[in-house]
Amino acid sequence: MKRILITGGAGFIGSHLCEALLSAGHEVLCVDNFFTGSRGNVAHLLSHPYFEILRHDVCFPLYVEVDEIFNLACPASPVHYQHDPVQTVKTSVHGAINMLGLAKRLKVRIFQASTSEVYGNPAVHPQPESYWGHVNPIGLRSCYDEGKRCAETLFFDYHRQHHLDIRVARIFNTYGARMHPNDGRVVSNFVVQALRHEPITVFGEGTQTRSFCFVDDMVAAITAFMHSSDDFPGPLNLGNPNEVSMRELAETIIRLTNSKSHIEFRPLPSDDPERRRPDVTLAREKLGWQPTTQLEDGLRKTIDYFGQRLAQMGSVA
Ligand code: NAD
Ligand code: UDP
Ligand code: UDP
Repeated sequence: MKRILITGGAGFIGSHLCEALLSAGHEVLCVDNFFTGSRGNVAHLLSHPYFEILRHDVCFPLYVEVDEIFNLACPASPVHYQHDPVQTVKTSVHGAINMLGLAKRLKVRIFQASTSEVYGNPAVHPQPESYWGHVNPIGLRSCYDEGKRCAETLFFDYHRQHHLDIRVARIFNTYGARMHPNDGRVVSNFVVQALRHEPITVFGEGTQTRSFCFVDDMVAAITAFMHSSDDFPGPLNLGNPNEVSMRELAETIIRLTNSKSHIEFRPLPSDDPERRRPDVTLAREKLGWQPTTQLEDGLRKTIDYFGQRLAQMGSVA
């Protein structure tokens, strides 16, 4: 049994990771400032004897004793990370420095939730880890993209300079239960809109693509990477290479929910990447992992979750 710190543990992916690590018999310390996450996401874990939650902002130093660290703290939806961009950069950069300092003092392994956004609007498709990316350093998405890029730099400098044991994963679009209904990301937006029979807001012409990974597959990959005996520090792409356009996604969600919604086109936000698909060859080689959940199966589970959640909120049409 290890004592494991998960920053951002009350968020969407973090809450699933808390659950998986508790199930594997570990003790979990969940640290979160509840900016986009909530106690509700981990309410079912609060009575677990090996689960502990601490309200804390990773921009400030943290002195705890643990055997392993997963650093997930950072808002991930464009709406939320652009709400207070300076805080987003601080969370990525100061948060990384503090968690790396903690890992260095304790001499423990540390995982960083990096992102496909480090590739920006990619000129290479699909994106392998060797691609350096195409990122606007001063645009609306830069607080997130450049913050995460700087965090990767810090992880690799602590690795080279202080011999820290790191694992850097570049996570591609992930979806599933416990995304917030007002999270602003595309899957939660479309599902909530479809269940309420409201217009489905497709940005631009909906020709831009993403590749969506179901959260259970992502958590399996994250834990396999962190606990692999291979010394490989990353960066490692984690995601599902099944690529769809936003228009196709909207049509699929309308069909799966039997919704009366129609598509409404809205302006494309600036710097919105035109396409994104992970090359997961390395993850397959290093971890023997590959995603197993088909998009429609994952969407059905996600739709069930939001159906129940909206019914509890009394807001389903
Ligand atoms: P999320 O917004 O649900 O979770 C982020 C969590 O971090 C929330 O609980 C939030 O309250 C917490 N947090 C934010 N700032 C904090 C701070 N300063 N101190 C402490 N806690 C803080 O998002 P998610 O989708 O679960 O993303 C988790 C991680 O994975 C993030 O680092 C994100 O960048 C990364 N990621 C996610 C995706 C995806 O598609 N979900 C893709 C790429 C990378
Ligand atoms: N830090 C922390 N917890 C610890 C050790 C360090 O939060 O247990 C923070 C502390 O704020 C420090 C940062 O991590 O500034 C970086 O630590 P490091 O040892 O790399 O640098 P230094 O202490 O020399 O600034
Ligand atoms: N998007 C959309 N309608 C929405 C929300 C998002 O068409 O209501 C588009 C967005 O423009 C982007 C894609 O869906 O092209 C994925 O957006 P998301 O915010 O989920 O993630 P990211 O852009 O960070 O990959």
